[in-house]
Amino acid sequence: MLKGKNAIITGASRGIGKAIAIKFAENEAFVGVNYFKSHNEAVETLNKVREYSDGILLRADIGKYEEAKNIVQRFVKERGKIDILVNNAGIYKRQSFRYMNEEQWDKTIETNLKSCFNMCKNVLPYMKKGKIIFISSQLGLKGSSHGADYSASKAGILGLMKSLAIELAPDIKVNAVAPGTIDTDIIADYTKEQRRRRETEIPLKRIGLPEDVASVCLFLASDLSDYITGETIIVSGGLYMR
Ligand code: NAD
Repeated sequence: MLKGKNAIITGASRGIGKAIAIKFAENEAFVGVNYFKSHNEAVETLNKVREYSDGILLRADIGKYEEAKNIVQRFVKERGKIDILVNNAGIYKRQSFRYMNEEQWDKTIETNLKSCFNMCKNVLPYMKKGKIIFISSQLGLKGSSHGADYSASKAGILGLMKSLAIELAPDIKVNAVAPGTIDTDIIADYTKEQRRRRETEIPLKRIGLPEDVASVCLFLASDLSDYITGETIIVSGGLYMR
């Protein structure tokens, strides 16, 4: 479905980003695997990507403008153009607003939201036609009692997504995915009891898999979604419905 397409995926060393990288490679895209700290995990992702297609590692803290610029330049030197950008990298430190300090607020906004500015700004000169996908969160739609910084960053992403969808139409389609609870390191601190309770709350009766999100990203990256822009698809097993 993505034969001949060049894709950059941020935060692809593990979790949802890794699943997207593999799914895109299975569908014959060339994949730029961005990661920040986890070199060995990123190499694992790249090895999986190379079982199906090809790709390169792109090490950067994408919250930093110059680092984002550098990896985009490296990718373009290799491939000439960019067809798909997935803004996936993100952090979530559960903390109530009362106890959150300024440093945490700034770090979350930098990593989750400013990174999207950094990547989109640098990618756009090399994307004449294409697809941009943002990974937001159900918490960006409904708010959170223990992550105001996270919710604000994920809601901000949706504002950016819709603005770009209008501004970049018709050649570039811009959409978002809002996952619910997905089984990655982000929920590694859940106790058995918390997992069981969450599974009961979810109408589809299971915590989501990274592949559940990756499949929707594949749809949004492919020609199948060519008449969709400015949309947010919730992937929560029915946990959150608008
Ligand atoms: P994860 O912690 O497993 O993966 C996060 C990825 O982002 C990692 O590869 C990490 O290296 C990367 N990253 C973090 N800071 C970075 C930086 N400064 N520069 C480059 N890369 C950086 O988490 P995940 O669950 O796979 O999360 C992926 C995305 O999905 C995030 O944006 C997250 O907010 C979102 N999300 C996850 C869930 C969930 O339940 N897992 C729910 C809703 C939204």
